[in-house]
Amino acid sequence: MKWTSHAEISSCVACALGLSDDLQRLLVEASVDPDRNPLHMKENEQGGRQGVRIRHHSPPRSEIMKLLWKARIAQLHGREEDAVWCLGRALHYVQDVHVRTGPYMISHDQAESDIGRLRADPSNAVAGAEAAAASPHYVRACMARAKPIRDPRLALDSATLLSSAIASATLSNRSPSPSTRDRWKREGRRHRFVVLPLAIGLPVVLAFGAFVVGVPHYSVLGIPVFLAAICSDSQYYYDREEARWFGMSL
Ligand SMILES: [Zn+2]
Repeated sequence: MKWTSHAEISSCVACALGLSDDLQRLLVEASVDPDRNPLHMKENEQGGRQGVRIRHHSPPRSEIMKLLWKARIAQLHGREEDAVWCLGRALHYVQDVHVRTGPYMISHDQAESDIGRLRADPSNAVAGAEAAAASPHYVRACMARAKPIRDPRLALDSATLLSSAIASATLSNRSPSPSTRDRWKREGRRHRFVVLPLAIGLPVVLAFGAFVVGVPHYSVLGIPVFLAAICSDSQYYYDREEARWFGMSL
């Protein structure tokens, strides 16, 4: 997507979210930064940092999500500028995904020019901000909806809507309701006092029984039992991530 399109979308998003003029300028700047500075800094296995290139039109969603987590944590800590910077960089990739590239990028330049001739519609940014839920799962669902679209108007509309929804979900200061907090606490207790003891206790009983009946090698079956018990508690992991979005632990 051309810089003008990224800037247009980011301006609409900033207005829909009611960001200050300074933050609006920062969001616009950050949203074109991946084209100016294509190296994305990430930690390597030695604990150092190295620059890697991210494919703009088919980026790994996990890298976008990492940027959005950084933005969210900065926002929770009151570092608004850091939050907006990371958010803007993440939105760049979400927007680029909407450009149709075709085989061997044959359609890319034309599709980018067609989108670049259009103006972003602010009503899409407003709709995206209003529909957003402050949740990492919601953000992932928005990213999953981002895809290349043949029609340039629809591509720009979708990029604006999803950018605004993700931005609102990431920068939202809304707190979870008391009933949601209570549910998270119950989930945490259930996991600690029911699921974990079962996950540990069942393999121990299994191993003990295996030794008693003289087939000690069967005790290795405790490993899949442990893993199955831990993995079956999907609701806990879902809620734990949701709570982390608000800086809370279960
Ligand atoms: Zn790009």
